[in-house]
Amino acid sequence: MTYNITLIMGDGIGPEVTEAAKRVLEATGVDFHWDLAYAGGSAQDMFGTPLPTSVFESIRKNKVALKGPVTTPVGSGFRSVNVALRKGLDLYACLRPCKIYPGVPTVFKDVDIVVVRENTEDLYSGIEFEEGAPETLKLLELIAETTGNAVREDSGVSLKIISETCSRRIVKFAFDYAHAHRRKKVTAVHKANIMKFSDGLFLAVAREVAKDYPDIEFDDVIVDTLCMRLVRNPSQFDVLVLPNLYGDFISELCAGLVGGLGVAPGANLGDEITIFEPTHGSAPKYTGQNKVNPMATMLSGVMMLRHLGEIEAADRLEKAIAEVIAEGKNVTYDLKPGAPSDQVVGTSQVADAVIEKLEESSHS
Ligand code: NAD
Repeated sequence: MTYNITLIMGDGIGPEVTEAAKRVLEATGVDFHWDLAYAGGSAQDMFGTPLPTSVFESIRKNKVALKGPVTTPVGSGFRSVNVALRKGLDLYACLRPCKIYPGVPTVFKDVDIVVVRENTEDLYSGIEFEEGAPETLKLLELIAETTGNAVREDSGVSLKIISETCSRRIVKFAFDYAHAHRRKKVTAVHKANIMKFSDGLFLAVAREVAKDYPDIEFDDVIVDTLCMRLVRNPSQFDVLVLPNLYGDFISELCAGLVGGLGVAPGANLGDEITIFEPTHGSAPKYTGQNKVNPMATMLSGVMMLRHLGEIEAADRLEKAIAEVIAEGKNVTYDLKPGAPSDQVVGTSQVADAVIEKLEESSHS
C-alpha cells in the first residue's frame, strides 16, 4: 500500500530536518507518495502568501501531513501561520509525548509524560483590542458599565476564550488517548482559582468528562504548582491536558526535561486530519548548516507511522533512533553538550546512522 502524505519542508532548518525524516521513513520499507506543499516563508516567496489555498487542499485530500517548522513572515497578515493552519483545519488537539531515551543528557532518568494541548482557543483566539483604538475604548466603557471595574484607558486587551465545547473535546481526546495507550492517569491543568469563568469552566468540564472513564485516574493541578512539581519530580505525571497557552509553556518545559527540542516530537490532530511536526521552530540561525538534530522530526514520523497503522515499522524506526542515541557516536551537538565539534555529527549523518541501524535490524 502507498500512503499519500502532504510534505511541508518548512523554513530555516525545516528542509534539513524534514529531508532527514523523509529518508528514514522511506528506509523502513513503507511506501510513501509525498505530495509537496508550501507554507511559511517559502510559500510567501513562491505565491505571495505564507498560507496558499493549495496547502489546505493538499492536506484535506491526503488527511495526513508531515511538516517542518515554518516562519511567519513579518507583515504577512497572519499572527502565526501555524495557528492559522491549525484553526483552518480544526486541528484541535496538540499531542506532545515527552519521554527520555537512554543516552540523552537529562537531569531526570524516568520521564514519560504526554502533553495534550487545546489548539484552537484561549489567548490564541486572536481577538485583541489595541491600546487607544475606538473599539477598545468602547469595550473598556462596556466593562466599566457592566462590571463596575474601571480599566485604564491606555490598556490593550487580548481575550481569553474558553468554551465548554472545546474543553469537552480536548479532555475527551486526552482520556481516549490514555485509554488507547494504557495510560493510568490524566491531570487537568488550570488556574481556576483566579480565572473562574474560563479556567473554571475548563476544570468543571474536565471533572464531568472524567466520570465517563472510571478506569483512568483523574486529578487536577494549578499551573504554577505544576511547574514546581514538574521540575522536582516529573515522574509523578502521566497525561496532562491543558488549555492552549499553558499547553504551549508546559510542552516546552517537558521537552526540556527529556533532553530538549531536538528530541521533542508532536502532532496536531482533528477528527479527520493530522499534521505531524516537531515541537521546535525554524531556528533561522542554523539554516543550511547541517547542524541541528533531526530526531524530533523523525520521532514525529514514528508517530505518523503508528497513526497509519504501520506499528511494526514505527517500532523498528523508534528502536533505530533510540540505538543511535544510546550509542552516542552519531548525534548532534545538543545531545553532547560541551563536546568538541569533531565528536558530534550533522543532521544528514544522523539520518545515515539511523538508516544503518534499520538495515542491521532487517538482516538480523
Ligand atoms: P526555535 O525552536 O526555532 O529555536 C530555539 C532554539 O532551540 C534554537 O536556537 C536552537 O538552539 C534550539 N533548537 C531548535 N530546534 C533544534 C533542533 N532540531 N536541534 C537542536 N537544537 C534546536 O524557536 P524560535 O527561535 O523562538 O523560533 C524561530 C521561528 O520558528 C519563529 O519564526 C517562530 O515563529 C517559528 N516557530 C515555528 C514553529 C512551527 O512551525 N511549528 C514552532 C515554533 C516556532
